[in-house]
Parts: sequence; C-alpha cells; structure tokens
Amino acid sequence: MNHLDCSICELRCRLTEGRQGACGLYELQENRIVERFADRYLVACPISIETAPILHFYPGAKFLQITTTGCNFNCPGCISTVLVREMFPDSRALQHLTVEQIVAKAFETRCEGIVFLMNDPLVMPRILRAHGCKGPNATKRPVAV
Ligand code: SF4
Repeated sequence: MNHLDCSICELRCRLTEGRQGACGLYELQENRIVERFADRYLVACPISIETAPILHFYPGAKFLQITTTGCNFNCPGCISTVLVREMFPDSRALQHLTVEQIVAKAFETRCEGIVFLMNDPLVMPRILRAHGCKGPNATKRPVAV
C-alpha cells in the first residue's frame, strides 16, 4: 500500500508515506495515519467568553480557551496562520496536556466550559469526544464550544 485516504474531514486527503494532509496534523508513517501534534497545545488558559468573541452565551462567564496547531481551512487574511500552520511538533511553545488534564483544568479553574479558538476543532475528533469526560470532583459536565 503506498497511500491512505484520511476520512477525518471533508478534504479527504490522500496521504503518501511521510507526507502530511492539508491540515498539517496527520501524516502517513509505516502505513498508519498518525497525529503529529498529539496532546500538544499552544494555548490552554481561562478567558472571558466575550473575548472569543461570543456574545449572549453565558454572559461574563469564564471558559477555558484551547488552541492546538494545524488547520484544514486556508482562509485569506487569517491572523493565526503563523501560529497554527507553521509550528513544529518539538516546539517549546507547545504545552503537553492529555485530554483528561484539559478537562480537569477547566474544572479546577471553575470554567463553565471549553472554547476552541484560532483553528478548526473538527479535525481533532479525539479532543471533541473528550468534552464528555468528567473531572475527579465533577458535579456537572463542562460545555464545549
Ligand atoms: S483531517 Fe487533515 S489530513 Fe485528514 S482529510 Fe482533513 S485536512 Fe486532510
């Protein structure tokens, strides 16, 4: 086999050995599609929901902003391009956090939920599934936006 088609998003990239898809997040290695930036985050800190910017949704509430790397969009004029599309997996700018640690951080910092900013979360199904995780002392599930 000399290629695999990635089915995570609608771009359906055809990956050949050592080549990344359009998002820069997935690569074919030894006939397996692997995540290049697993558990690495550019940003994981609380913000006010209005800075997202999202209005009229949990007004004034604190949410945990998370930003990973890579994006399957290629929007003209995107201000996040340098940060999310030109990052190396070993960059010291990236924090290593598991999805459970992200959810726990949302609870510990008393956030109402988790908000994805700067790149497209739809190419990170593992993270999206994690919003259903419960923290150790959780009484309610955080909202993922
Ligand atoms: S997730 Fe990335 S590699 Fe997979 S199809 Fe979409 S852009 Fe291509």
